[in-house]
Amino acid sequence: MSYYSPSIEKLIEAFERLPSIGSKTAARLAFYILNASKEETEEFISAIQNAKQNLKYCSKCFNISDTDPCDICANPTRDSSTICVVEDVKDVVAMEKTHEFKGVYHVLHGSISPMNGVGPDDIKIKELLSRLMNGNIKELILATNPRVEGEATAMYISKLVKPLGIKVTRIAHGIPVGGDLEYTDEVTLSKALEGRREL
Ligand SMILES: [Zn+2]
Repeated sequence: MSYYSPSIEKLIEAFERLPSIGSKTAARLAFYILNASKEETEEFISAIQNAKQNLKYCSKCFNISDTDPCDICANPTRDSSTICVVEDVKDVVAMEKTHEFKGVYHVLHGSISPMNGVGPDDIKIKELLSRLMNGNIKELILATNPRVEGEATAMYISKLVKPLGIKVTRIAHGIPVGGDLEYTDEVTLSKALEGRREL
């Protein structure tokens, strides 16, 4: 049984569906919106609509971007012969913050996880391979997260790519095992990139 009116209840439920939002936080956010000015509410709604309308995936690297190709792929000063493979769009941001990496990216949008029913075909591995076949790629840096799934994904890709004669490296374990690239500080991530080893 709910103590709130149906409209508030619906708004709270909408917030609750967002990641890492519990019921208390959802209620707090819902009441914040209810007390906000009309302008503020409209700005919030249009920010969501605008992002959904304008953002697309880069057709080369599958990063999220306002443009296709994305700013990184379109930048002539980036070394397009070095591709850093990451699991998530947020990992691109983490790598960019180090200012160490001058190559380009490939976002897998996940990692291989048989436990969760995610196989190689469910993430952007085929797209990576076609990039490697068509382009002049010298090095592939596997920067998937140092978790079981990330390691399995790195091994899987390395086995596929090595016969193509492309150098395959894995970022070093400066990152705590079970950690997330996204939450790794810039210095640790720079060191992990610097200390990458060939597979
Ligand atoms: Zn791109």
